Amino acid sequence: MTAPLTIIGSGMAGLGLVRQLRQLDPARPMTLITADSGDDYSKPLLSTGFAKRLPPSRLAARSALEVADELDAVVRTHTRVEAIDAAARTLTIGAETLPWSELVLATGAAPAWPFTLPEAVAERIFSVNDLDDYRAFHVALEALGRPARVAVIGLGLVGCEFANDLAAGGHAVELVAPEPAPLPRLVPETLGHALGEAFREAGMRLHTGRQLARLEAEGDGVAVGLDDGASLSADLVLVATGLRPRTALAESAGLTVSQAGIHTDRRLATSVPGIHALGDVACVDGVNAMYVQPLLASAKALARTLTGTPTSVAYGPWPVLVKTPLLPVVALPPARAPARWRIEGEGRDLIALAENEAGELIGFALTGRAVRRKVELARAAPPLLG
Ligand code: FAD
Repeated sequence: MTAPLTIIGSGMAGLGLVRQLRQLDPARPMTLITADSGDDYSKPLLSTGFAKRLPPSRLAARSALEVADELDAVVRTHTRVEAIDAAARTLTIGAETLPWSELVLATGAAPAWPFTLPEAVAERIFSVNDLDDYRAFHVALEALGRPARVAVIGLGLVGCEFANDLAAGGHAVELVAPEPAPLPRLVPETLGHALGEAFREAGMRLHTGRQLARLEAEGDGVAVGLDDGASLSADLVLVATGLRPRTALAESAGLTVSQAGIHTDRRLATSVPGIHALGDVACVDGVNAMYVQPLLASAKALARTLTGTPTSVAYGPWPVLVKTPLLPVVALPPARAPARWRIEGEGRDLIALAENEAGELIGFALTGRAVRRKVELARAAPPLLG
C-alpha cells in the first residue's frame, strides 16, 4: 500500500490544504493528524463569540468525522505527533510508527506565556487559541452565573479583540500591558491611544506601561499584582501575550527553524526533502504573516506543487482587520521601520501612512471612519511577499 500524503495540524492551514488538494486529486490517500478535536472552525471567530455568548458548538462548522467524510481523508484527532524520521519517512505517535510519502507541517503557533502559571490559580487563568480553549473559557464564564471581572493581559490584536468582545458581552474588563498604547506592533502610538480611549469610554480600565508582577488566589478569584504595587481583583484572567510558531517537532527532525517559524522557500519546501510547511508555523522566504489570507494563498500554491505543478506563493498587500467594533482598525504594518509616519485625520478617524526615505508608501494604519480607505491604500502599498 502506498504511504499517504500526511498533514500534521487541522487548523485553517492544514484543512485548507486538504480541501485544495482534493479538488486537484480526488483519489490520493491522505491522512490528517491533529492534537485537538479536529473540528472545522474559523479561528478568527473565537474573539467574536463572547459578546453573543455563543456556545462552542456554534463556532464549529463541521466535526472531524464530517471533515473525514467530505474530504475522503483519514482524520486522527486528539493525536500528537511526537517525532519525525525524515530519512525513513515515518512519524511516531506513542508506540506507533506511521509511514508518509510526503509530509506537511501545519502545526500553527502556541500562546507564549511570560510567566510560570501558579498552581493555586491555574484553573482561573486562560488563553484562547483554539476551539478547545474557547470551550474551557466559555464554561468558566457561564459557571459564574453573572457578568465576570476579566483581566486581559496583553493588548495586541488578540488581547484587544477579546477585551472588546468581553466588554460587549457585559463583562467588566481590565487590560494590562507594558506598552504605552494598544496594538503596539500594528499601529503607531497615536492610533493605539485612540483605541485605548474608545475602550475607556466603554468602561474598560487600561493599565498600560505596567508589567504583571504576580497572580495569587483571592477568595474564589485572582489578585492580579502589577509592578507599581497595584492589585486588581478578577474572576478570570485571559493571557494574550503573543503567539510563537510551534517549531519543536520540526527542529528535532533536523529542519531549519528560527523564532519566526520553520523556514521554507516560496514553494513552501522546508530544508528537508519531502517536507513542506504552511500557516502560522511557516516562515516563507523570511515572512511569517500569521493571518488567514497568506495561509489560504499558501494552501492553494502548495496543493498545486504537491499535485505535480510546482507553484510559488505570492502575498499581496493584504491589510489586517482588527475586530474591535468600539473603534474599527485596519493595518498593513510596514516590513521594516519606516522613515516616518504621516498622521492625518480628526478625532478617532485617523490615517497613518508609513513612508520610506523616498516618501513612498510602505504600510498604513486606519481607525474609525478612515478604515474606508483600506482598498485604495492597499492598492498603493507594496506586497507582503511579491
Ligand atoms: P492553528 O489553527 O494553530 O492549527 C495548528 C494545528 O496543529 C492544530 O490542529 C493543532 O492541534 C495541530 N498540532 C500542533 N502540534 C501538533 C502535533 N505535534 N501533533 C499533531 N497536531 C499538532 N487572522 C485573520 O486573518 N483575521 C482575523 O480576524 C483573525 N482573528 C484572529 C483571532 C484570534 C483570537 C486568533 C488567535 C487568531 C486570529 N487570526 C486572524 C489569525 C488566524 O486565525 C491564524 O493565522 C490561523 O488560524 C492559523 O492557522 P494554522 O492552521 O496555521 O494554525
